[in-house]
Amino acid sequence: MSEHSIREVVILGGGTAGWMTAAALVHLLDPRLIRITLVESDEIGTIGVGEATIPPLIAYNSMLGIDEDEFVAATKGTFKLGIEFVGWGALGERYFHPFGVHGQDVRGVQFHQLYLRERKRRQLPDIADWSMSAAAAALGRFARPPPDARLPLSQLWYAFHFDAGLYARFLRERAGRGGVRRIEGKVVDSQLRGSDGHVETVTLADGTIVSGDLFVDCSGFRGLLIEQKLQTGYEDWSRWLPCDRAVAVPSAYPGQPDPFTRSTARSSGWQWRIPLQHRMGNGIVYSSSHMPDQDAQELLLANLEGEALAEPRRLSFTAGRRRLAWNRNVVSMGLSSGFVEPLESTSIHLIQSGIVKLLALFPDKRFNPIERDEYNRQMQDVFEDVRDFVILHYKATRRDDSEFWNYCRTMDVPDSLAWKMELWRAKGRLFREGKELFGAASWVAVMLGQGIVPEQHEPAADALDEHDMGEMLDKMRLSYRRMAEHMPMHGDFLART
Ligand code: FAD
Repeated sequence: MSEHSIREVVILGGGTAGWMTAAALVHLLDPRLIRITLVESDEIGTIGVGEATIPPLIAYNSMLGIDEDEFVAATKGTFKLGIEFVGWGALGERYFHPFGVHGQDVRGVQFHQLYLRERKRRQLPDIADWSMSAAAAALGRFARPPPDARLPLSQLWYAFHFDAGLYARFLRERAGRGGVRRIEGKVVDSQLRGSDGHVETVTLADGTIVSGDLFVDCSGFRGLLIEQKLQTGYEDWSRWLPCDRAVAVPSAYPGQPDPFTRSTARSSGWQWRIPLQHRMGNGIVYSSSHMPDQDAQELLLANLEGEALAEPRRLSFTAGRRRLAWNRNVVSMGLSSGFVEPLESTSIHLIQSGIVKLLALFPDKRFNPIERDEYNRQMQDVFEDVRDFVILHYKATRRDDSEFWNYCRTMDVPDSLAWKMELWRAKGRLFREGKELFGAASWVAVMLGQGIVPEQHEPAADALDEHDMGEMLDKMRLSYRRMAEHMPMHGDFLART
């Protein structure tokens, strides 16, 4: 500790972002040296959605020493092996975007190149048949992967579906035990320091003043400090991601929970289906310029598999990101830092990513601009990476049955995505740059799943014996299938945890 060390961190907001941040900071910083205070308003409440995740959440849990079984039980969670996309490439089509990899590379040649070559020789099933996670998902089965990397089962990657409200409560209890001070109250004002414009204090409706050295703005879409106070600015991505509304509703679900999310494309957006232990989470995400709110709600309710368990909730948003995720002494986390629609379940991951980067670049009271700039650069990269991957789903469609899909199919996309798509179209090449979140397997799943087939495969694949590779592909596929057949049903696995 030095005279410059941060002593007081104030987290504004107690949604998923607020409590994930509080639980991580109190666990990884010394609470005797740094006091962490979280302010939340019961009157305002939380957004209350956000039920599907991606595999890196396992790392967040283990970083905090969270027992996975305890976490799944407390959040009424289920396991997720990927996402089934229905009607995205064309009406009547479906494909699976699994977690993890497809098959195995051979002598440095990526598996999908071998698949592309073999596909020219004979008809092959979907590439998902060479994924351990997809093979298990197709049979509704689940088991945890073993540590032995030689076994095909070790290629099974998973994440979770959970009840967002229960997750926040779970983290709140942990953070409270760790020493986080919680203040219930509505922030009505904030004060800036004259010398440098840093936020010094926030004032609650009852007059309480809370001061801090570092503020983490987890106040949701309103961005109370980062935007309303500091006017940081927002980069609007809605020309590429035109969906700006959602309606969410839980429904009854008596059967075995599927170990995957389903996303069904609708005429002006898409519908999610997320199985939890006690209910199904459903929602429709749509473009309000192409579909009236009432029609969207009716479409959602008409497509529930069980009885609705609550009144539908309507939400509005604008796709984009805060121009600076960290401005002065305010770091925005969660929805206050930006939003890419939940098609690939990435928002909770963006929170996790922000927390890890904040810890890696934790400032002192001098707020060295290089640390802040580095944080902003890294967050911009991860946001844009997610943005491009989600846009791909809209752009790579052959649907022409509505104005919405005509717009998406013909729209310009960011240069970074256009470049990636062209490289893929030529010879199926994909490169993972820096720390991109989605690896080659994810891009392959969506590109092929939505009908973008490269003109050729990579020449290096031709150096491998055609007959041997054909046999190897068949054996590999069978081994994934056999392994999946021996796993327990997902619901039975959950009952035992
Ligand atoms: P919020 O939940 O809005 O929390 C804001 C907090 O700030 C609340 O505690 C509130 O009380 C407090 N607050 C605000 N103003 C004040 C004030 N003046 N004084 C005191 N307190 C205040 N993410 C995923 O990863 N997977 C998904 O499947 C997924 N699905 C989604 C579906 C939809 C339709 C939407 C819109 C989002 C989805 N998300 C998903 C995103 C996810 O919901 C959010 O990333 C996550 O819940 C974090 O929200 P938050 O904590 O930033 O904001």
